[in-house]
Amino acid sequence: MRPRRKCQPVRVGDVIVGGAAPIVVQSMTKADTRDAAATLEEIARLKDVDCRIVRVAVPTREAAEAMIEIKRKSPLPIIADIHYDYPLALLAMKAGVDGLRLNPGNIRDPDKVKEITAMAKERDIPIRIGVNSGSLPGRPKEGEGRRPPLDQVVEAMVSAALGHIRILESLDFNQIKVSMKASDPPTMIAANRAIAGKIYYPLHLGVTEAGPPGTGSVKSAVGIGVLLEEGIGDTIRVSLAGDSVQEVEVGYGIVNALSEKPTGPNLIACPMCGRLEIDMLPMVAEVEKALKKIKRPINVSVMGCVVNGPGEGQHADIGIAGGKGKGILFKHGKIVGTFPEKELVPALLRELDAIAREDEQKLAS
Ligand code: SF4
Repeated sequence: MRPRRKCQPVRVGDVIVGGAAPIVVQSMTKADTRDAAATLEEIARLKDVDCRIVRVAVPTREAAEAMIEIKRKSPLPIIADIHYDYPLALLAMKAGVDGLRLNPGNIRDPDKVKEITAMAKERDIPIRIGVNSGSLPGRPKEGEGRRPPLDQVVEAMVSAALGHIRILESLDFNQIKVSMKASDPPTMIAANRAIAGKIYYPLHLGVTEAGPPGTGSVKSAVGIGVLLEEGIGDTIRVSLAGDSVQEVEVGYGIVNALSEKPTGPNLIACPMCGRLEIDMLPMVAEVEKALKKIKRPINVSVMGCVVNGPGEGQHADIGIAGGKGKGILFKHGKIVGTFPEKELVPALLRELDAIAREDEQKLAS
């Protein structure tokens, strides 16, 4: 990745976004916020996969009231997602949330905006301005089935973001993050590139409404990945029509794929071909599951055959290669054991469990 664009740090609870802080992976709960127990259960699952910040929708008064319990018990900093309803922003802040996602320009009454920013300032609560190409004020009209030109959409997005920022700055508020989202990567990339040099605030990246996990992950990897590689972006959220845990896993996958120094495990698996003589896909799934417990950078490979496996997996720290009725376990390209097929994955899992235990002990000490 190229050096990160310089911006001011903003604190969300105990997490720093921007400045020299590492890229923060965050997500948003999908449970009904009024159901505090279900929301907290989802937050606990998100914490297990190292989600750092969680956004929670606050669409109603009941949801804002549930935030009291959610905030009290949440192990992660909470950002309240508010759209137009300013009293909900005040209630969420009173509940103790660590951040707001709110566009001040959407709240018509300037006195209400003043009230929100005054409370946010007093409580040290940052505000994320979120501009979405699909809901721009005075948005360029779709012309006879054609999409508006990209530069027009980007200009409108930048102008909307700067408008919201000016409102907050005029109230002497600068604990701001900004997101420029679109459901297609080219618009999202262009909008973030366009605003990146104009502001000194951290940027939150995401391809919105990206779709189900397969296509959504691809779009997110393209949109978020291109920008991160250019040094743009301080926190990311992958939006999938699926489990929020998967959003975090894909988010880390994007960061790790771009990083010269990955922070987590990397699973290498051969694409399989006509030489395959084992049932490889269930093996890959088992190993992938086991790697979720490992917190260190390690390359683990699962290869389909012994002919090319150890050679093709030689960059792995540890791996297995299948064969006819048996397979091998290798470390750094060297064979360290031969096992019957059904004992091959358990042999690798024993090694991975030992590594995971070491990681747990390190974290505990
Ligand atoms: S490791 Fe073996 S089975 Fe897998 S792709 Fe390579 S040659 Fe084919």
